[in-house]
Amino acid sequence: MFREAIEQMSGYVPGEQPRGMKLVKLNTNENPYPPSPKVVAAIQAAAEEGLQRYPDPSASAFRNRAAEVLSAHNAEITPDWILCGNGSDDILTIATRAFVDQGRAVRYPWPTYSLYKTLAEIQGVRHEAVPCEPDWSVGFELTAPSDDVRLVYLANPNSPSGTLLEPGEVAAIADTLDCPLLVDEAYVDFAETNCLDLVRTNERVLVSRTLSKSYGLAGLRFGYLVAQPHVIEQLAKVKDSYNCDTLSIAGATAAIDDQAWLADNVTKVVAERQRLDAGLLAAGFDTVDSRANFVWATHPTGQHEAIYQNLKAEGVLVRLIRHPGWSGGDDGLRVSVGTPAQTDTLLALLATL
Ligand SMILES: *Cc1c(COP(=O)(O)O)cnc(C)c1O
Repeated sequence: MFREAIEQMSGYVPGEQPRGMKLVKLNTNENPYPPSPKVVAAIQAAAEEGLQRYPDPSASAFRNRAAEVLSAHNAEITPDWILCGNGSDDILTIATRAFVDQGRAVRYPWPTYSLYKTLAEIQGVRHEAVPCEPDWSVGFELTAPSDDVRLVYLANPNSPSGTLLEPGEVAAIADTLDCPLLVDEAYVDFAETNCLDLVRTNERVLVSRTLSKSYGLAGLRFGYLVAQPHVIEQLAKVKDSYNCDTLSIAGATAAIDDQAWLADNVTKVVAERQRLDAGLLAAGFDTVDSRANFVWATHPTGQHEAIYQNLKAEGVLVRLIRHPGWSGGDDGLRVSVGTPAQTDTLLALLATL
């Protein structure tokens, strides 16, 4: 019954989401803190107003507020530069469907977010994973000329490394490519720089953001894309008519409105990232300097699966990530930044292992 591409692919495997267990959950880069209380109030108010009507198909309330907030930090953005999605995964899907024809290809530095490969497989197109150097710097082949590559994904900061390319480096990549560059800024609020300004000067640069990580709203499902208005106009044809619902639009609008909450949260998470990194180093791991809300850790013994299993048996969940064949090592552990108490639990356990 199925297209061959679907039968042959294995499907994206999300991080474990065990329910009803008391776990120290450091495996999917969720925010350890609940969102702004204004988000819950806005969702409640929207629910009380009634859900019998369809939502605003273009999520104007969010786009209006987001345009103001982004303009305060970067060059001027108006609502027609923004496309909203059911999480930024939806944005990545829309871009893949809109840009990449049958028989063509996508490209991305690797190791990275494994959904990019899945999206290519669903679309039935080739994927070119360009290996990073062992220090996670991006291989020059990313910009090699190609007749087939129609979209390049660039997670920045990258996952699982937490490494960041500066806007000038991303601009150089974008200027060399002759296809769109989708800069996936899922973690950018934890970093010091971002690539929003590049969108203004290069129509082939698209920047995606999510409320799942820095706004503590992974359960809400809301993300957005910033690109030039004529690009947004084409991409909007591809999205589901009502891809964001009434409750998520209300919650997301309240969330981006509360920049004081965001600033406070980022300060806490970044401070704790520092402590987590130092603790992992003291426990004998090698770590990568992270600009995100997680730390990539490898151990000289290479016993990552055993460490992962031992932690899990004690109720601490981290992410075991495999990328067999990579010159920087076959696997490692990605540890999300939690609360100070969660860091303490993790580090105390590691000391006993
Ligand atoms: C978490 C994550 C996303 C997905 O975010 P959602 O908005 O929850 O769909 C996208 N890209 C990267 C690199 C991520 O880590």
